[in-house]
Amino acid sequence: MLLTEQAPSATKNIVGCVLVVEDEAIIQEAIALALTEEGYNVLLAEDGYNALQITKTTQRLDLVILDVMLPSINGLDFCRILRHEGINVPVLMISAKGNESDRIVGLEVGADDYLSKPFGMKELVARCRALLRRSRQNFVSTNAATVHKFGDVTIYPDECRVTIKDTEINLSPKEFRLLDLFMSHPRRVWSREQLLEKVWGVDFVGDSKTVDVHIRWLREKIEVDPSEPKHIVTVRGFGYRLG
Ligand code: CA
Repeated sequence: MLLTEQAPSATKNIVGCVLVVEDEAIIQEAIALALTEEGYNVLLAEDGYNALQITKTTQRLDLVILDVMLPSINGLDFCRILRHEGINVPVLMISAKGNESDRIVGLEVGADDYLSKPFGMKELVARCRALLRRSRQNFVSTNAATVHKFGDVTIYPDECRVTIKDTEINLSPKEFRLLDLFMSHPRRVWSREQLLEKVWGVDFVGDSKTVDVHIRWLREKIEVDPSEPKHIVTVRGFGYRLG
């Protein structure tokens, strides 16, 4: 069976709907069991193509646990397609390939977290919980596509306006475009090169340190403590992300 839905324990409320994309039956079953016991509703897929169909047709999907090595469409391509189509469901990537560059590639294609095999089910469940908490608490889209809120910061892209606790702040055009990019892609990790291309344009000739400088200025305006940023955070070895 390519897709099964397992009923959560009758005594627990459903805490979220998780799609598990994994072609190794033993691992798939172990993950499904661990999540079902925690009260999650679990959907299963064994290859990337079926996973994609499920993400497009499922009304409520809170999280995807995604193996990298998969038949038909592999996990990296699946993730790329997902993000390209604007599907922002959190993705926890799992793979036997766990060195730093594999993790970076995973994050670069839009995964939110990366767990190397073999892993313990307790760690997997804890990471799922953390991802769901982050996606639910930190990002509230207050008005469809035009207003984004993250913590105390609200951005009104159409009005080129940013407020912190309802007080308007002044950003330079570059700072505004950086913040807009982060807040309209709440879980995405951006490399300095990607930020340069998006904010400064492909023709920009200069150093990627330019990005660091503008991020620092932006933090001074939006962070309570710019030395311990909570909004634009550094992803070591890669770049920046929101929250
Ligand atoms: Ca596999």
